[in-house]
Amino acid sequence: MILEQDDCAGRLQNCILFLRLASSVSYWTRRQTFQVNVGGVMIGSEHPLVIQSMTNTDTADTDATAEQIKELVTAGSEIVRVTVNTVEAAKGVASIKAKLMEEGISVPLVGDFHYNGHLLLTQHPECATALAKYRINPGNVGSKHRDANFQKIIKVAVSNGTPVRIGVNWGSLDQRLLADAMDTNANRNEPKESEEVVIDTIVESALRSAELAEKMGLAEDMIILSAKVSAAPELLNVYRKLAIRCRYPLHLGLTEAGLGLKGIVATTAAVSPLLIDGIGDTLRVSLTPLPHGNRAEEVLVARQVLQSLQIRNFEPQVTSCPGCGRTSSTLFQEMALEIQDHIRDSMPIWGETYPGVEEMTVAVMGCVVNGPGESKQASLGISLPGNAEDPKAPVYVDGKHDCTLSGDGIVGDFKKILENYVTTTYGKDSDERV
Ligand code: SF4
Repeated sequence: MILEQDDCAGRLQNCILFLRLASSVSYWTRRQTFQVNVGGVMIGSEHPLVIQSMTNTDTADTDATAEQIKELVTAGSEIVRVTVNTVEAAKGVASIKAKLMEEGISVPLVGDFHYNGHLLLTQHPECATALAKYRINPGNVGSKHRDANFQKIIKVAVSNGTPVRIGVNWGSLDQRLLADAMDTNANRNEPKESEEVVIDTIVESALRSAELAEKMGLAEDMIILSAKVSAAPELLNVYRKLAIRCRYPLHLGLTEAGLGLKGIVATTAAVSPLLIDGIGDTLRVSLTPLPHGNRAEEVLVARQVLQSLQIRNFEPQVTSCPGCGRTSSTLFQEMALEIQDHIRDSMPIWGETYPGVEEMTVAVMGCVVNGPGESKQASLGISLPGNAEDPKAPVYVDGKHDCTLSGDGIVGDFKKILENYVTTTYGKDSDERV
């Protein structure tokens, strides 16, 4: 279902006004969408925002791919996409799924198809049925017979009851559509900037493909859209336009975000305003890993983005100050790191044993200037002594001063208080806590 542009203009104003008002009350109001079932994981406005990732192994190497999927799932990926680009890769998909199932991992697998998806999906039905979603790029379904090839993939999706993501990417935008849009723009009295025409064409490409898929019999709640670009301002522009034109869930992500710090910051800058406005139903962070780097880093970044925005909680958060001339040693940095590592290491057990522990907050502060205030806001907080301060560290529990630590064992003592807090607050007998 696609909304006409004219219908949308007024609604956009109302919608933005509503979101701004709503954000001051409840902070986060999701754009309403259809709900899409991807192999048992629901994507849409009625469900938690889903984190997904993609392997970078050769899918034909089924052992390596299954191993990497396990790592991504362990890090928190709820859906994993694999490249399906060759006959060998297509043949490997069912085997990868079987290997994962043997280990009790039932994560939905998504097939990423370009150019030959219509052939691979029709010639390898075992691959088509093993996948929980097909990702199709309308710009890469074949140059001469693009509509026919696209329709072949949709036909497989309809017959298997498998949803699709129509993923437009500015780097592989349908050049025929773009040329037509540029021609039309050139004949306008007041032509738009060419960048704006590209953005509009990306949106049109996604919507037209979705319309064609629906005409082929694919239900509206079996379609997810994405429209990825690699610069933050354009991403905001394209997703805001797309969001008001349809009710399909949106897969969010900055494509080709880049390496390390640049990729993390660029992604966060790009997706956060959209997420705050309630746009986006599933998130993938597209970091370039360092050679032999950890692919699961993209999953950790996605989790941290969502938790920082208080959209989902995954693990207790440690608040720590930046330090300044008042901090005479590295103790508070070392302590903040040790407490954070301790929490991460404990989460596999805590998550199972202590429901709600992921909402806990811990403050580790460098001195008493902001320390007590920040500590009182956290579930548990400590202010270490700064320069020229009494060598004592007040500890706050649920906003109240609990005790004061001193001596060489501050970190160990605080860990014990932390453990005790988790057990008594989130354990079975937590109601009895006094
Ligand atoms: S809490 Fe204290 S040590 Fe930390 S930044 Fe503020 S003044 Fe500096």
